[in-house]
Amino acid sequence: MVPDIHAVAARPVVSVVVPAYNEADVLPEFHRRLASVLDAVDGACEMIYVDDGSTDSSLGVMHDIASRDARAVVVALSRNFGKEAAMTAGLEHASGEAVIVIDADLQDPPEEIPAMLAQWREGADMVLMQRSSRAGESWFKQWTARRFYRVMDRLGEIDVPGDVGDFRLLSRRAVDAVRQLRERTRFMKGLYSWVGFRQVILRYERDARHAGETKWNYWRLWNFAIEGITSFSTAPLKIASYAGFAVAFGAFLFGAKVLLKTMFFGDPVQGFTTLVTVVLFLGGVQLMALGVIGEYLGRVFVEVKRRPLYIIESVRRGPGD
Ligand code: UDP
Ligand code: MG
Repeated sequence: MVPDIHAVAARPVVSVVVPAYNEADVLPEFHRRLASVLDAVDGACEMIYVDDGSTDSSLGVMHDIASRDARAVVVALSRNFGKEAAMTAGLEHASGEAVIVIDADLQDPPEEIPAMLAQWREGADMVLMQRSSRAGESWFKQWTARRFYRVMDRLGEIDVPGDVGDFRLLSRRAVDAVRQLRERTRFMKGLYSWVGFRQVILRYERDARHAGETKWNYWRLWNFAIEGITSFSTAPLKIASYAGFAVAFGAFLFGAKVLLKTMFFGDPVQGFTTLVTVVLFLGGVQLMALGVIGEYLGRVFVEVKRRPLYIIESVRRGPGD
């Protein structure tokens, strides 16, 4: 029997995690490019394709890939759990010494992998890929993304570099550290920076999507931003206290003025407009503060249930079964 040069050794050196949701159109081309990059990599490799409950034929395409390439592992989730959960599932199934997370839509060129591995071989625990261009993204998305990183930076509990996505390499110990963080509200970029270790940033050109369309609409991005802020900072909770303090101080001054005026100039009944304005304003401020508390409370609620982050439907390694 001819030995299969792709036969996976006991423990692969490099694992590539690919979360995919409805990517049937791109997966064959993606695999072709990834495979030819990995052919040239020194050491055994595996590719972990995570099907995040796709409704198209992505899973079938992945099985097809696995039947032809022994390095492919297919992890199917029972439904769509979102990219963050799909990545977590991939990280948990990756056994390599270096693990690379890459999008399936070819926006992250697999050809960058050798450069990432070179940094890792020189001792980096995390190689972050920073895009020098965001081809195919609207100016509004780019602007909101920049604002978001600015806010995260201001809040300052963790350092999330701008223009860095999920495309990155993690060393075994960094993966093991990230795996210990079991929170359900997963802002992965935050979790990656929270674990620390030596980071290296490489720049690359982010391509436009090869086929299909982005799964991120503005509503999803907005929720993602709230998630990012509330899972790493309690600053919004403090805003309520400060706003309350400022309003109370203003009310005290105003009260003193009204009192003095009444004492010296008598008190003809007046000021309906002021009264209504003040009542409405305070009502608004209170509701807003309650809303902020609610955001956090909701997250505590989700967290205490301790549900698993994802449910696996099947795992397949290589051409067998
Ligand atoms: N993805 C996923 N689950 C989802 C949404 C997206 O696994 O619920 C995958 C998707 O297949 C792709 C990657 O995450 O490989 C990035 O998604 P997308 O291209 O839609 O995001 P963008 O590049 O626009 O930020
Ligand atoms: Mg994309």
